[in-house]
Amino acid sequence: MQRTPLIAGNWKMHTTTSEAVALAKSVAEASRGLADRQVMIAPPFTALAAVAEAVKGSGVHVAGQNVCWAEKGAFTGEIAPGMLLDIGCTMAIIGHSERRHIFGETDAMINKRVAGAQAAGLIPILCIGETLAEREAERTFAVLEAQLRQGLAGITVADPAQLVIAYEPVWAIGTGKTASKEQAQEAHAFVRNLLAEIYEKNIACQIRILYGGSVNSDNVDALMQQADVDGALVGGAALKADTFARIIRFQK
Ligand code: PEP
Repeated sequence: MQRTPLIAGNWKMHTTTSEAVALAKSVAEASRGLADRQVMIAPPFTALAAVAEAVKGSGVHVAGQNVCWAEKGAFTGEIAPGMLLDIGCTMAIIGHSERRHIFGETDAMINKRVAGAQAAGLIPILCIGETLAEREAERTFAVLEAQLRQGLAGITVADPAQLVIAYEPVWAIGTGKTASKEQAQEAHAFVRNLLAEIYEKNIACQIRILYGGSVNSDNVDALMQQADVDGALVGGAALKADTFARIIRFQK
């Protein structure tokens, strides 16, 4: 089953607008001529409009690092799906571990965000992943199952290309400790089987599952060579133009 690989850069709370535009232009340059993969960048909200303008016509997707479920109203600090669409975003990261663990976002809240994004026509990138304590307690699969089932509750999938899951073990995010290719493949295969239970096999094998957690230019190829790894969600290494350019040009 053909799944277009997606390399996504999450810039977190980094870059001023001018830094973001410069980095975005280098990503657009590095992505030129790569028709067999998609590239996405998620700058901070303050730089989104400028970045979207800078990469216009390059094929590089721009995403919000989060998105609200509501279209407008009294939601101080939030950004509506329509606001992201209005400036050219096509995707939104939802349920990132930093949102879950620093800001206390719950599976119920994350589920509402996925529904709101999808209803508006944004591609939700639903992040799931276990902490180190959960892995050591052999609870990885139980945690992934709970996060996936609750995050996707009531979500129907008409077009499997319009939903992306990111498996990001919390212990690997920003730590320099990457999951081994075997650990990544095992978790991704588990997630895909679960997607087949939630939807159906034919849909599950078309949904992209990204790996995230200290992906860099040295480990990306091995990770991307795994059967169920369909892309990468990259944090720290996405802020370095040369490194991210090499990640975009991963070799299978
Ligand atoms: C992330 O922000 O989703 C991430 C995986 O960060 P890093 O690549 O720095 O581990």
